[in-house]
Amino acid sequence: TTLFGNVEQAPKDPILGITEKFLADTNPIKMNLGVGAYRDDNGQPVVLDAVREAERRVAGSHFMEYLPIGGLRDFISESVKLAYGDNAAVLAEGQVAAVQSLSGTGSCRLFADFQKRFMPGTKVFIPEPTWSNHFNIWRDAGVEFAKYRYYKAETRGLDMDGFLEDIKHAPAGSVFLLHACAHNPTGVDPTPEQWRQLSRAMLERGHFPLFDMAYQGFASGDCDRDAASIRIFLADGHRLAVSQSYAKNMGLYGQRVGCLSVVCDNKRDASAVESQLKAIARPMYSNPPLHGALLVTKILQDNDLKQLWFKEVKGMADRIISMRSLLRKRLEEAGSPLPWGHITDQIGMFAYSGMSPEMVDALAAQHHIYMTRNGRISMAGVNTKNVGRLAEAMHAVTS
Ligand code: PMP
Repeated sequence: TTLFGNVEQAPKDPILGITEKFLADTNPIKMNLGVGAYRDDNGQPVVLDAVREAERRVAGSHFMEYLPIGGLRDFISESVKLAYGDNAAVLAEGQVAAVQSLSGTGSCRLFADFQKRFMPGTKVFIPEPTWSNHFNIWRDAGVEFAKYRYYKAETRGLDMDGFLEDIKHAPAGSVFLLHACAHNPTGVDPTPEQWRQLSRAMLERGHFPLFDMAYQGFASGDCDRDAASIRIFLADGHRLAVSQSYAKNMGLYGQRVGCLSVVCDNKRDASAVESQLKAIARPMYSNPPLHGALLVTKILQDNDLKQLWFKEVKGMADRIISMRSLLRKRLEEAGSPLPWGHITDQIGMFAYSGMSPEMVDALAAQHHIYMTRNGRISMAGVNTKNVGRLAEAMHAVTS
């Protein structure tokens, strides 16, 4: 026997496992539509011009000292303005506790640990389906989770009645994890009127909304519009939390730059909550990374760079939206008799195609096209060159 002989192989991550299979495929026509990372029309990763310019401005101009535990102050104040709106009353009143975090995953994990400590006995309600890592995050934080109904397979749309019922029946004061926009994996978002209804229903039950906003700007192309859900809940007087990530909207994936904020009743509470978030961060990673936060701050503090970024994020969103139309058109041209309207109805990085796990397996085995077994297509990997082959392969495995 060996010291670690009793350690079993951990199960593969359902998303990152796809990349491994893709890499092992030697056929040059292979397509990776698994991971949600933006690609241009040539299938290449993109560094935004706003980011390149921010890098030039940052280069050589700063030290490499530690950031404070809570991160870069200016980064945080720009981030919460982006989420809540420049003129948000909760910001003017000092009601918002906020810390820089390790991207969206790190924000969610910080919140989950905070929930475990300071919202004892509460459960987190997670949409069915959701980003698979949500389960891992709250499991490892030791918080009990439950699912709420979100997606209706028959309509390929929102299960509003199920959602409202689950809000009503959840124990009062539960945490509800909401995707602020561009729901992953379904691409199905509530309308503003539905958000208003959901907000009122949660207020009635005293639930605490946590908005996971990994795609601000990436859904509609407009950062304010994509934060409409949060603004609606704020206007209703909710206390809530927001997890922000700059991975997708600024293309800073590997820089791990994000922000967790919590709207409290008053300044005293916000200060106490912020101090506790730092107390959670300190033994986990001490302080967050510097470089990405500097880039984001440069962009958000400079009006010209900020406008350039708005234009570029809209460019990415628009390319994805146009690929949705094209994929649908090519499926119809390929002769598919199935309804594909959901591909253009959905929004954000993913198309929830409705294909079965077996169909997905056939796409990989016969067509060298890789995606998660729930039929989720990363639209970011679709382009004018590969969309025809994708449509034909989808038609072949669905007919
Ligand atoms: N939440 C959701 C819903 C996501 O889709 C993602 C990215 N896949 C994240 C959080 C976190 O991503 P990151 O940690 O790279 O910011």
